[in-house]
Amino acid sequence: MNIPLVDLKAQIEKIGPEIQTAMQEVIDSQAFIQGPFAQKFAEDFLKAHGGSYGVGCANGTSAITLVLRALGIGPGDEVLVPNNTFIGSVEPIVEVGAKPVLVETTEDHYHLDLEDLDRKRTANTKALIAVHLYGLSENIKTLQTWCCENGLSLVEDCAQAHLAKFESQAVGTFGVAGTFSFYPGKNLGAFGDAGFVLSEDKALIEKVKMLLDHGRKDKYLHEISAGNYRIDALQAAILSVKTKYIAEWSERRRQAAARYDLKLKEAGFKVLSPLPDSTPVYHLYLVEVSNRDEVMMTLKEKGIASGIHYPVTMNSQPAFSGYGYKSGQFPVSEKAAQRIMSLPIFPEITPEQIDLISETFLTVAKV
Ligand SMILES: *Cc1c(COP(=O)(O)O)cnc(C)c1O
Repeated sequence: MNIPLVDLKAQIEKIGPEIQTAMQEVIDSQAFIQGPFAQKFAEDFLKAHGGSYGVGCANGTSAITLVLRALGIGPGDEVLVPNNTFIGSVEPIVEVGAKPVLVETTEDHYHLDLEDLDRKRTANTKALIAVHLYGLSENIKTLQTWCCENGLSLVEDCAQAHLAKFESQAVGTFGVAGTFSFYPGKNLGAFGDAGFVLSEDKALIEKVKMLLDHGRKDKYLHEISAGNYRIDALQAAILSVKTKYIAEWSERRRQAAARYDLKLKEAGFKVLSPLPDSTPVYHLYLVEVSNRDEVMMTLKEKGIASGIHYPVTMNSQPAFSGYGYKSGQFPVSEKAAQRIMSLPIFPEITPEQIDLISETFLTVAKV
């Protein structure tokens, strides 16, 4: 038996015909770019999140870039971002010409370290990008208050956290904007690249709509030179179908995580710990070990995939060395990066699969 990290085939076995129908409708309409299918998906996605305004875009990285541009962030500005994240959270800051200011994360929840946030804030700081990593809500209300007190814009990177909640409110609705990725392997995945910007601020979304479509005011009147970051109608139609299932899929992910927890947490391993009053959606299931290579090898021999999210923190990325970042500056997140590993998790994973993975893990893993 082979167990992948994410089993996308299992999902398609169930909803394949429904998706085929949706795709055929787009083909019949020949409305391939944005249009009615993108409009319908935006409505479906906003409804699921209890959000007010939003628009689909090219991918999760461009969603953040569009928000930063709409906020007028650029050269001379600084943007705070966690050191432990996927590079897609950081690139948009560079893309708009601002400076990425990396912030240390905490040992317990892999969340932003509040003291380091205070230390890193300067007169040039304009925004904070909070990342709901692994599908767990950040300490978002505290960050909301902190940003408010310091006059900063809070942007939520929800690429891994579709429908994750804090105090029953969907993440992405706490800041000035929430950004989402529908990369195929995400909890809500397209058949290619796609993304979304959600906001309670109508004017911000209007601005994003212009920025993602050649700075258009009218068909042939371009207010600014802005480029093309539109969503495809085929992706939107596929995502409309999948949005119907996302709540149910998230519940199954929580059940899978609970079953892992029973075995691994009880055996003394450090696993993800969601904040009280939060509803996680477990994009990934992380566990820390001291002999990672050995554990991953043993799992592989049994046909069980595993991963590392992420093995190289942002301060050690050659891409950001120009800002003076180097290895060793972020002891907490760098230590975690050497110990974390991700076990298979997806809605269709079976209790038997989880038991096999856990038992194999426990034969070799060391705390
Ligand atoms: C996937 C991801 C992104 C980027 O999304 P793309 O759609 O691949 O551009 C950004 N941030 C985080 C945390 C992600 O996991």
